[in-house]
Amino acid sequence: MTDSISLPGQDWPVLEPGWVWLCGAGPGDPGLLTLHALNALRQADVIVYDALVDERILDWAPEAEKIYAGKRGGKPSAKQRDISLRLVELARDGRRVLRLKGGDPFVFGRGGEEAQTLIQHGVRVRIVPGISAGIGGLAYAGIPVTHRDVNQSVTFVTGHDQSGATPSSLDWAAISKGSQVIVIYMGIKHAEQIATALMAAGRDPEEPVAVVAGATTPTQKVLETRLGRMAEHIADTKLEPPAIICIGRAVLMRQVLDWQGQLSGVGPRDLDPLGRGRPAEQA
Ligand code: SAH
Repeated sequence: MTDSISLPGQDWPVLEPGWVWLCGAGPGDPGLLTLHALNALRQADVIVYDALVDERILDWAPEAEKIYAGKRGGKPSAKQRDISLRLVELARDGRRVLRLKGGDPFVFGRGGEEAQTLIQHGVRVRIVPGISAGIGGLAYAGIPVTHRDVNQSVTFVTGHDQSGATPSSLDWAAISKGSQVIVIYMGIKHAEQIATALMAAGRDPEEPVAVVAGATTPTQKVLETRLGRMAEHIADTKLEPPAIICIGRAVLMRQVLDWQGQLSGVGPRDLDPLGRGRPAEQA
């Protein structure tokens, strides 16, 4: 199986013994892996991976030892410090280590902490970015995270702080004012508190919201709702993590850009959902 995936001819970096490559695996669909990550999979002799890494990607490295370092089935997650120290140990044993994380390792992924610990212990690292769920996952739902007619900025927010509680330290009023589009990671458990905080800060309860669960995977589900009803709708539809919440008018673009729906034969609902009133190319 591995033989069928070859890298285009150029000099690809060598994963040397004693090094750790910290790579993003993208949000799910194995096709969203970067070539650098694929190059790492082909050379690693040990892969330390998280819950959000699609198993099909691990199958591309049949020979490598796989070490699971995530949270699954309600079991407590491995402690971050233990994971980082395990990586140090593996590197010191002269292994070729691939640390594979969902999405992008530096976006709400603690990749910064892991890389710092490795470097503090004298371990050499390479960082390979990945496609983050808050951008690529939304694209699979037909939602452009920026659009000229909607937003000049986008805010990425985590719905959990280190203790797992709602990030009460976040200034929701500032986020609400400062960003037309808000993308929330790890937010569905706290959807109600988040919606309440945003509406208290002046966001319109009728503002469009999309919740994309299992984005880019075969079980991707998209809920379209409104800010004032999102928590209730999430509960009703029993959406499960991992899910991204996108708040803002960019969500309306899904009415024309739901390319996956179109693949399965559902035509666009509205060719001009933002009411531009002119073909996009004439702007
Ligand atoms: N580093 C990752 C984010 C890790 S935090 C990235 O860049 O994407 C974990 C959160 O990411 C999840 O709770 C969820 O909010 C989001 N997430 C990751 N994969 C996802 C997917 N396939 N679909 C929807 N959300 C996803």
